[in-house]
Amino acid sequence: MTRLLVASRNAKKLEELRRILDGAGLEVVGLADVPAFPEAPETGATFEENAVAKARDAVAATGLPTVADDSGIAVDALNGMPGVLSARWAGSAKDDMANLSLVLEQLADVPDERLTAAFVCASALVHPDGTEVVVRGEWPGTIARKPRGTNGFGYDPIFVPDGGTRTSAELPSAEKDAVSHRGRALAQLLPHLRALSE
Ligand code: IMP
Repeated sequence: MTRLLVASRNAKKLEELRRILDGAGLEVVGLADVPAFPEAPETGATFEENAVAKARDAVAATGLPTVADDSGIAVDALNGMPGVLSARWAGSAKDDMANLSLVLEQLADVPDERLTAAFVCASALVHPDGTEVVVRGEWPGTIARKPRGTNGFGYDPIFVPDGGTRTSAELPSAEKDAVSHRGRALAQLLPHLRALSE
């Protein structure tokens, strides 16, 4: 079976990626399953730059075809921020609750009709021969005034996807995967991933 490295240590993200890639005929391994290598900090100005850089580094270190993604939430009233800074919005601790609380404080005086936002995910597949495929998935919605729900991670408790009233932390995993930014990005990568096992 062809091994595919998913360049992530985030257990929930890895789990989500494994579920989405289930049945693709690939042995999906994470960073914890390969020998450690130095990981460069994420310094790109865009999700795409960060995703490609992460995948290139992992391919150079392991020789395995690698998928890496970079994701975050873009809030219109914050001019697209937290954006690529989503994980560290309230500081380097990567504290999900601190991050979403800060966003809620920043939006306190913004009227309801301007609480639009989107989760964004860029996903890059880099082959050992240097071939690269980069895709982008977006999931539009609005920011809730208070956190609700316990599924997911990050900003899920304050994100209400368009077309419903539940936050993404109130959606069952399978429902979220089918329509999320990461699901949409990976759906575009799937044909390229399936080709790896042929
Ligand atoms: P990354 O690990 O560099 O891609 O950072 C992603 C950050 O964006 C996470 O730490 C979360 O704060 C946020 N984020 C990305 N995707 C999601 C999601 O599906 N739900 C909630 N937060 C997310």
